[in-house]
Amino acid sequence: MSVLVFIEQREGQVRSVSREALGEATRLAASLGGGGEVVGVCAAASDPGLAALGDAGADRVLLAAHPGFARYDGAGYAAAVAAAVEAVKPAAVLFAASSLGRDLAPRVAAKLGAGLAADCTSLTATAGALTATRPVYAGKAIQTVRFPKSPALVSLRPKVFAPVTGAGKRGAVEPLAVEPPASGARVREVVTQSGGKVDLTESEIVVSGGRGLKGPEHFKLIEDLAAALGATVGASRAVVDAGWRPHSEQVGQTGKTVSPKLYVAVGISGAIQHLAGMSSSRCIVAINKDPDAPIFKIADYGLVGDLFEVVPALTEQLKKIDVHA
Ligand SMILES: Cc1cc2nc3c(=O)[nH]c(=O)nc-3n(C[C@H](O)[C@H](O)[C@H](O)COP(=O)(O)OP(=O)(O)OC[C@H]3O[C@@H](n4cnc5c(N)ncnc54)[C@H](O)[C@@H]3O)c2cc1C
Repeated sequence: MSVLVFIEQREGQVRSVSREALGEATRLAASLGGGGEVVGVCAAASDPGLAALGDAGADRVLLAAHPGFARYDGAGYAAAVAAAVEAVKPAAVLFAASSLGRDLAPRVAAKLGAGLAADCTSLTATAGALTATRPVYAGKAIQTVRFPKSPALVSLRPKVFAPVTGAGKRGAVEPLAVEPPASGARVREVVTQSGGKVDLTESEIVVSGGRGLKGPEHFKLIEDLAAALGATVGASRAVVDAGWRPHSEQVGQTGKTVSPKLYVAVGISGAIQHLAGMSSSRCIVAINKDPDAPIFKIADYGLVGDLFEVVPALTEQLKKIDVHA
């Protein structure tokens, strides 16, 4: 049984979340049996180097090339994925649960009348049937989803699934004829953050600051620690609401969901809404002066102390070692 993967590109670059989805599709196609292919589908103005995805697990990639697909077009991209589903008849369609994927996957599900499990953290295939698990109620419970009919649509939480490398598949790029619908919403401009920072959701290390920092001027401590670790800066909603940090940095239920290898929470209490956005991080370090702060319940390492003393000392020590060695 085949697995279709939506390949997300931004400004002509395939995003790493799509390589993660291809990795999972490769594992899934093997356990679903029947010698199924892993097929990608990409909507873009021109080929963003799709043949390279053979090494990431794609047997072939369908390219819906159209000048109108240079930027995200919900209706047009959904038409492209639906056309690919029609051509491939996959058992499952995988998307990344990125901001784009969170908009696109429900559109495709509605178009096909198919079921969608969003923001999944694991997939299993037994006896040809797919089961997805996903955190619900802000991470308090895990839901198991089974699909009564195919295709099963699934979006995958970024940074949870490992990509494969050196798969040595052909990655043949084939054209897919799709016309974007004439009417509908259009993205006219994309305003990006300056500084070439790594996207919070794609970062391997995130250092987040909360209200314990007492004011925006003290976020320099967080930025310095992040720089020493090669990390991206995140924030709690309390500090975003206070206007100390931009909303793009907010982690949590109403912010971004991150799953880095290392998440450092500084002066963050660990409210359930914050945990919803970071509890699937591989290793969680919490720095808080209150030993009863809820964040310590999910932390792998807890440091009880005054952040104004602990963080500069930690940063100084980290600067002396090569943290990536
Ligand atoms: C519908 C809804 C959606 C929400 N969505 C989100 C969301 O997406 N993300 C989110 O983060 N929140 C969200 N919230 C808000 C959430 O409930 C909390 O209010 C918020 O996370 C608290 O932020 P905080 O931990 O920075 O602040 P606080 O809860 O005030 O915690 C500050 C912490 O800093 C510690 N501290 C103070 N001084 C020091 C010091 N000198 N050294 C060390 N530690 C110190 C304190 O002990 C405390 O634990 C949402 C709430 C609602 C109702």
